[in-house]
Amino acid sequence: MQPLTPKSLRDSFVNTSKREAAEAIPPFRLETVEWEKLEVFGWIDRSNPLLGFIVIPLDGEPVGIMLRASGNKTKKTMCALCEDIVDVSDVKLFVAKRAGAAGRKGDTVGTLIHGHFGCSKQVRRKPNSIEGKRDPEKFIADRIEALVANAEQFARRVLGS
Ligand SMILES: [Zn+2]
Repeated sequence: MQPLTPKSLRDSFVNTSKREAAEAIPPFRLETVEWEKLEVFGWIDRSNPLLGFIVIPLDGEPVGIMLRASGNKTKKTMCALCEDIVDVSDVKLFVAKRAGAAGRKGDTVGTLIHGHFGCSKQVRRKPNSIEGKRDPEKFIADRIEALVANAEQFARRVLGS
């Protein structure tokens, strides 16, 4: 994905107030992020472990989404973005307020996402024995494509488009 700056990150949010967007600060420096290896960029808030943020590129523009994790204990389940079958231990149900008028009325959309937001890393791992002796490059390319499609679909649901 395209590198984000503090300003483009702040401006990307579609379901926050201005204040919430200003307070959405990743716990690491944006200059140190390897953007070329990311399809989605996300983090958990430093002081509130139930508050998350994810940025998904859509039609060339970053779409920033504020997420709330359900307080329930995390069950072992598959992340709806990267669909990884190995790393199923830190997947949370996140709920996002929809953008615009729908969100102001209280409409939300939910999805299962890795709480560490390492989905881009997961899809770059080599296929294991269960996944067969497929061509690893093709396997990884297909998974990257699926991650992009799943993430875009989630962003569109939040945007209501
Ligand atoms: Zn994931």
